[in-house]
Amino acid sequence: MKMDYINNYIEKNLSEKRKRHIYAVKDTALKLASLYGVDLEKAEIAALFHDMFREISLHEMNEYVKQFNLGSKYLNNRNLAHGKVAAVIMTKDYGITDEDILNAVSYHTTGRLNMSQLEKIIYLADAIEPNREYPGVEELRKAAFVNLDQACILSLSRTIDYVKSQNLFLDEDTVEARDYLKRLKI
Ligand code: FE
Ligand code: FE
Repeated sequence: MKMDYINNYIEKNLSEKRKRHIYAVKDTALKLASLYGVDLEKAEIAALFHDMFREISLHEMNEYVKQFNLGSKYLNNRNLAHGKVAAVIMTKDYGITDEDILNAVSYHTTGRLNMSQLEKIIYLADAIEPNREYPGVEELRKAAFVNLDQACILSLSRTIDYVKSQNLFLDEDTVEARDYLKRLKI
C-alpha cells in the first residue's frame, strides 16, 4: 500500500487542525498497536483514512450516503456518516480490501458489537490523541495503555452520556459496543 496517495489527499483537502488530528491519531494508534501486538501497517492505514471526509459539506455527504445506500440514519449527520463513506471510497478508489481496516474506519465514531483489537485501537486513538481536551481525557489516556477493553467501556459510556445529555441521535452500535465489553468482564 502506497501511503503517498492518502498523504497527498490529506495535505490537499484538509484544514491544518484536521491534519494535526489525523497525524496525532496515527502516532497514538501506532503506540497502542505496538503495545497490544496489532499490525502496525493496518493501524497506520486506518488512522490516515479515518477522517478523510470529516470536512466535506453536508450536501456532498448526503449525496454519498444516497449513492452508496448507507441508510437514512446517516442522512444529515456528518458525524455519523464520515467513517462509513470513507470505508466505501477506500475500497472503490484506493483498492483497500482488508475487512479489519475497513471496519476500523467505518466504526471509528460509534464502535460496535464485538470490536476487533484494531477497531478498538482506532476508536481510542481518535478519542485520546494529544490534541484532545475534555473532562476525563487524562483518565482515558492512562486506561488505554493499561487495558484496551476497560478504556473502550469508559469512552463509550462517556459518549452515550454526552449524546443523551445533548439530545442527539444515539447510534445503537455504541450501546451494543459498550454492553458487549461489559458482559465480557463478568
Ligand atoms: Fe471521525
Ligand atoms: Fe478523528
